[in-house]
Amino acid sequence: MQFVCLDLEWNTGVIPQTGKHINEIIEIGAVRLDKALRETDRFQCFVRSVLTKELNGLVRKLTNITNEQMLSGKSFEKALGEFHDWLPDDCVVLTWSNTDLYTLADNCYSFLGGVSLPRLHWYVDLQRYAGDFLQVEKGRQISLSDAAIMLGIDVEALPLHRADEDSRLCAELLRRTYDETAFQPYIQNAADPEFFRRLTFRPVMLTDPGDPEIDQRLLEVKCPSCDRKTARQGPWGSYNKAITGVFQCPSCKRKYKLIARFKKHYDGVTVKRSVRLVPEPAGADSEKTPFARHTCSQT
Ligand SMILES: [Zn+2]
Repeated sequence: MQFVCLDLEWNTGVIPQTGKHINEIIEIGAVRLDKALRETDRFQCFVRSVLTKELNGLVRKLTNITNEQMLSGKSFEKALGEFHDWLPDDCVVLTWSNTDLYTLADNCYSFLGGVSLPRLHWYVDLQRYAGDFLQVEKGRQISLSDAAIMLGIDVEALPLHRADEDSRLCAELLRRTYDETAFQPYIQNAADPEFFRRLTFRPVMLTDPGDPEIDQRLLEVKCPSCDRKTARQGPWGSYNKAITGVFQCPSCKRKYKLIARFKKHYDGVTVKRSVRLVPEPAGADSEKTPFARHTCSQT
């Protein structure tokens, strides 16, 4: 098994026909390693943008890629074709976080009309593997240079944020962390259509209370004082993509406001909900606002 560390640089752009924002790839860089992780070859190619003649300033600063270099690049289709030809059949492709892979898939979809990467088979997200090796807490994503520093690699000497240099740094990170047994479970089958559906799935907020994907029990409110089911007053509302509703307890007459955010992910729906007591209007009988009194008595 060989290894290919892949890194992409991109420029932010907008596709005029659709108004869609996209990270348009402007450089592909990769290194190939043999099974002993020795570097055997390098790949580097600039890609000419179809969306702009001028890179945005931040990208120029970050990558040191000049407009001239970008404009002298190949078409995305040709550059990707050359990369595919260079890619060995039997290899694991690694990128630092799956954002590069998502961007590659997104560019294939937007510019070539394809939804998968036919020549990519085995894939490892090096950020996850190295993050676990370095015992970075779950959910935290460390940058390539932070990981390099943690592993004692002298990054000061390296021109970071260039595809060819970053891919070589990925290779060095792999060398310092590689353990065949530990590495195996991180290998994913990128040829599986499911892999790309998951990769390219963007979470969406569910804003319709009647959405069949919403568990209706999560749109109910129980009175915290009486432990009784409350009744909704008036229509559903919305606030910043959250579903809102005002509920009243039939027993104590307290009113509550429910704010529930439903987010649909590839694997299911998550919810964040809060229930707040609605304060009585000013001048109302204070006997009817025991919550406020209760809060005061805690001080
Ligand atoms: Zn009540």
